[in-house]
Amino acid sequence: MNKLKNLRHFIDGHLVDGAGSRWGDVFDPATGQLAARVPLASADQTAQAIDAAAAALPAWSDTPPLRRARVLFRFRELLEQHLDELAAILTAEHGKVLADAKGEIIRGMEVVEFACGIPHLLKGEYSDQIGSGIDSWSIRQPIGVCAGITPFNFPVMVPMWMVPIALACGNTFVLKPSERDPSASLFIADLLARAGLPKGVFNVVHGDKEAVDCLLTDARVAAVSFVGSTPIAEYIYATGCAHGKRVQALGGAKNHLLVMPDADLEQAVDALIGAAYGSAGERCMAISVAVAVGGVGDRLVAALDERVRTLRIGPGTDPGMEMGPLVTRQHLDKVRAYVDLGVEEGAELVVDGRDLRIAGHQGGYFLGGCLFDRVLPQMRIYREEIFGPVLCIVRVPDFEAAVELVNGHEYGNGVAVFTRSGNTAREFVRRIQVGMVGVNVPIPVPMAFHGFGGWKRSLFGDHAVHGPDGVHFYTRLKTATGRWPQELASTASFVMPTH
Ligand code: NAD
Repeated sequence: MNKLKNLRHFIDGHLVDGAGSRWGDVFDPATGQLAARVPLASADQTAQAIDAAAAALPAWSDTPPLRRARVLFRFRELLEQHLDELAAILTAEHGKVLADAKGEIIRGMEVVEFACGIPHLLKGEYSDQIGSGIDSWSIRQPIGVCAGITPFNFPVMVPMWMVPIALACGNTFVLKPSERDPSASLFIADLLARAGLPKGVFNVVHGDKEAVDCLLTDARVAAVSFVGSTPIAEYIYATGCAHGKRVQALGGAKNHLLVMPDADLEQAVDALIGAAYGSAGERCMAISVAVAVGGVGDRLVAALDERVRTLRIGPGTDPGMEMGPLVTRQHLDKVRAYVDLGVEEGAELVVDGRDLRIAGHQGGYFLGGCLFDRVLPQMRIYREEIFGPVLCIVRVPDFEAAVELVNGHEYGNGVAVFTRSGNTAREFVRRIQVGMVGVNVPIPVPMAFHGFGGWKRSLFGDHAVHGPDGVHFYTRLKTATGRWPQELASTASFVMPTH
């Protein structure tokens, strides 16, 4: 029986089919089977979603924040009720193990919980009597129609970094999810509608560059949030800004974890195994470089070797699996090519996962965990983002060399230090040029009420996502000055007023 689904867009409260579109293929990464076709919207189809968002804007932005928040409270309840169903959709198209898929959804739900407090978050400032009989106050107003362009690796969490806060602030939204795992966004659209969100406030268009370019250039889109690879992030930032939009564009990463000689080695190894190989390394906060400081290298490699060889790898739906397949055949080929390259470059491949075969899943996109030792900073496997289950060990003599190594990398998303010294940790946090820092915490992903964002070529723009920065990104500041005199002064003034 042919179970192939044709996915649809979600525009103005309705599923809209992609007749006449170009189409993309969506695969089940655990089997390599074609699972669905996704329509790739033309510029005209994308403009229909912007039409809907623009039409819904006046009423939604005028809805009291308290009532907007109540829609989000209901949305949060629905997410919790449908957690298992949504996790299954996510695993079926992304491949990550079910427990990890649930974790991703819960991290997204936390942003909804933050956005439920929007009446408090939108409170303005008031200055009484800035001059005789004059007051001044600031308010934050919605920015307008917002667009989100999101990557394959967190098909629920990353859209949720954006959508709940944008909507709570009174904006309307067009989401262009990854065409590689697009179904979760339609499920979210359905839950938002069931939560009482008026039609047109949230829309989903599937697509590729054509849809994205329409969102970047249409004058009705006021703000664009992007998460994905650095070359595309840079393009989105430059093009969106050139068209007068507010843009935040989060890019790629190469996250280091320093193992200091005084670290608890067992803890550091546990941290590295989860952070390097969880979600098959397809996380922007995955640790892809372990920096062995001082004489810790041999002990670290010996401890990691056994653990990497015995990773439990299989379909994300099988209980007890630690790592699933990579997302597509193309991505698997790219990651394997990086492992080949590392060998050519002269790094020592301690664990080679290239020959892994999973019984009954020969067509799946599986790669075993790979571990490289004696990686050098000039090698491409060190400089470039691999985005797979490949951990590189770089050996450095001391703390100073480790800090210099990390600060010299073009990416600055996440970093961690494992040490027992408070002084080392403090120095590290102060001196390291990276946006998100962990002390004995391997993946220091900030909570919803703090901002998430890297430095250097990991983030283009001035705002992190979620937290107070999220509220600022999705609102415009307005400052008013007023007086109510008994009688209006009748003389014109030609000088700057001073009080
Ligand atoms: P990607 O850059 O290939 O795609 C991201 C989005 O951009 C998708 O919606 C895609 O359709 C669109 N896109 C792709 N090519 C385009 C083009 N030429 N023009 C316009 N739009 C285009 O990224 P990906 O492979 O889906 O995701 C993995 C990347 O995302 C990694 O680099 C990872 O580090 C990064 N990421 C970063 C963060 C972060 O917080 N910094 C979080 C998650 C993922």
